[in-house]
Amino acid sequence: MPDSVAIVTGAARGIGAATARRLAADGHAVAVIDLDEKSCADTVSAIESAGGKALAIGADVSDPDQVQSAVDRVSAELGAPLVLVNNAGVLRDNMLFKMSEDDWDTVMNVHLRGAFLMSRAVQKHMVEAKFGRIVNLSSTSALGNRGQANYSTAKAGLQGLTKTLSIELGKYGVTANAIAPGFIATDMTKATAERVGVSFEEFSKAAVGSIPVARAGEPDDIANTVSFFVDERSSFVSGQVIYVAGGPKV
Ligand code: NAP
Repeated sequence: MPDSVAIVTGAARGIGAATARRLAADGHAVAVIDLDEKSCADTVSAIESAGGKALAIGADVSDPDQVQSAVDRVSAELGAPLVLVNNAGVLRDNMLFKMSEDDWDTVMNVHLRGAFLMSRAVQKHMVEAKFGRIVNLSSTSALGNRGQANYSTAKAGLQGLTKTLSIELGKYGVTANAIAPGFIATDMTKATAERVGVSFEEFSKAAVGSIPVARAGEPDDIANTVSFFVDERSSFVSGQVIYVAGGPKV
């Protein structure tokens, strides 16, 4: 792989933080992007104390100007980004009859518009280098989930975006793949437990009951899968969606 620079969005915590640490351990310089630059400090210091290189950047992935400035900064300070992990995400769960336009638009903007804007800004560098890796975070909710009309639509949309990116960019050495996690223990699933009024322990226990490997997923389970897709040796794997959910059923 050429000297590689990776961007991970939503990397202040959870799956994004684990992915940033993993890609740094794999030898990439990593741009840690999240809404607030200061919130990226823990991820950056974990990477640096393990001997890696990282840069914190505050940007809202749904804003085209902020996305362009972030990518320009990565290119100027770390080098051309050749790996992009579109991980930033939010939940605005509600049953359809209670879902507001704002709940719908916020989720579409962060997940779908964000992944589109980031991919569009970064592809130029990948095409020039004739090498690139794009990994999008979908979800098992893409197959439908009660209370998540907005989120499941966005996560299904990301699978379509992934396949189209793989078709358009394949001849430039760029692969695009998606990971659809099942239940992963992060602040996002903690917030869901809180919203439905149960403790995280109870919520987690109920989820684990239907997971064949009989445990909750951890952010590192997803980071490992990202690492596989990003590996130079994975150049013939493109346009795929892998469900990382501890079993075949989701
Ligand atoms: P998380 O702990 O909530 O972290 C998401 C991060 O994204 C937060 O740091 C958040 O920043 C950031 N973010 C939100 N909006 C942003 C924006 N507009 N621009 C830049 N950054 C933004 O979530 P997670 O559980 O690690 O999930 C990561 C990804 O995996 C998401 O796409 C999620 O949908 C997907 N996923 C998660 C699970 C799961 O079980 N956890 C399952 C399937 C899929 P703030 O803290 O400032 O809001």
